[in-house]
Amino acid sequence: MSQVQETILVTGGAGYIGSHTVLALLKAGYGVVVLDNLEYGHRELVENVLKVPLVVGDINDRPTLDRLFATHNITAVMHFAAYIAVGESVQNPAKYYRNNVSGTLTLLEAMVAANVKRIVFASTCSIYGMPKQVPMTEEHPIAPINPYATTKRMVEQILSDFDRAYDLRSVVFRFFNASGADPEGLLGEDHNPETHLIPLVLLTALGKRESISIWGTDYPTPDGTCLRDYIHVSDLANAYLLGLKYLSEGGKSEVFNLGNGNGFSVKQVIETAASVTGVEIKVLECDRRVGDPPVLVGSCDKAKNILGWHPQYSDLSDIMLHAWQWHQKRHSGHE
Ligand code: UDP
Repeated sequence: MSQVQETILVTGGAGYIGSHTVLALLKAGYGVVVLDNLEYGHRELVENVLKVPLVVGDINDRPTLDRLFATHNITAVMHFAAYIAVGESVQNPAKYYRNNVSGTLTLLEAMVAANVKRIVFASTCSIYGMPKQVPMTEEHPIAPINPYATTKRMVEQILSDFDRAYDLRSVVFRFFNASGADPEGLLGEDHNPETHLIPLVLLTALGKRESISIWGTDYPTPDGTCLRDYIHVSDLANAYLLGLKYLSEGGKSEVFNLGNGNGFSVKQVIETAASVTGVEIKVLECDRRVGDPPVLVGSCDKAKNILGWHPQYSDLSDIMLHAWQWHQKRHSGHE
C-alpha cells in the first residue's frame, strides 16, 4: 500500500461507479469522504462496506459544502453525483439542469473558495450524440441529443472556463457503458429503477423478471442488434486513480474516453449471460428504442497513452461473471 496521505471527496460515492472508485482509493491508501444525498445511493455501502465518513447532503447546498471543506482536509474531488436517466431528462429537464449543472457549479465555487483545485469529473460518451465515425475519439464532434447529455457537456465547458479563471484543473472522463461489479463481490450495480441491459438480463436469469426485451433487431450491424462498448466498473475506478495522479503531477486539464474499444451486440450480451449463468433466458424481440445509435464504441488510446490506463477486464465473460456473482449475492435469501 502506498503512503499517500491525501483525503479525496467523492460526491455520489454511495452510487454504482462512485462506490467502486471509493474502494479503489481506499486500496491505494487514500482517505475518502463521501457526499451523497442518498436519493439513489446506498447508505449501507458507505457505512458498512466501505466504512468511510458519509456526509448526507446535496451538491446544491453551499453551506453543507463549505462546512465539509472546512472540517475535512480535502485535497481533490471526484464528482459522480448526477441524475442519469435519459428518458426522465427529456420529461423533466429542470431537474437535470438544477442538479447536474447548477449543483456542479455550486460544488466548483465551494472548491475554489476552499482552495481545492483538482477535480476528476464523470462525463459521458453520449455527449457525442449520433456517431459520425467509430471508434469515436475525443475529437469527435460534440452534439448531445438529450438534456442529460447536454448537462454533461455544459459542465465540461464550465470546467474549462474555471481552469482559465481560477486554475482549477480537471480530468474529464467520458464513459462508455459502465458494467460489471467488484471482482471480490463487495460492491455491484443496484439501480432502482433498473434500465441497463446487463443487470436486466441477469435479473431475468435470477427469475426476478419474466423476459428480456431486445430493442431493435433490424440495425445495420452483424446480428441486427445494437453494439455497445461495455467497460468494467473496476477499470473505470482505476482510471480515476490515474487521473488523480496525473493532476497531482501537474498535468493540465484533459478529456479522456474510457471504454473497452470493443463492441458487443445485445444478442451477444444475452448469449454471454446465458452461458455464464447456465440459465435459459427468455427473449422478446421488440421495436427500436427512440434515440439509440446502432453502434457506440470508443477509442481509448488517449487514456492509454497519457495516463497509462489499461483495462484489465476487457472480456465480456469476466464483466458478466462479476455482475452475476454480485446479483446472486444481492438477491440471496430473498424470494
Ligand atoms: N437494451 C435492450 N433491452 C433492454 C435494455 C437495453 O435491448 O431491456 C439495449 C439498448 O437499446 C442498447 C443496449 O441494450 O442498445 C445498452 O443499453 P443500456 O440501457 O444498458 O445502455 P445505453 O447504451 O443506452 O447507455
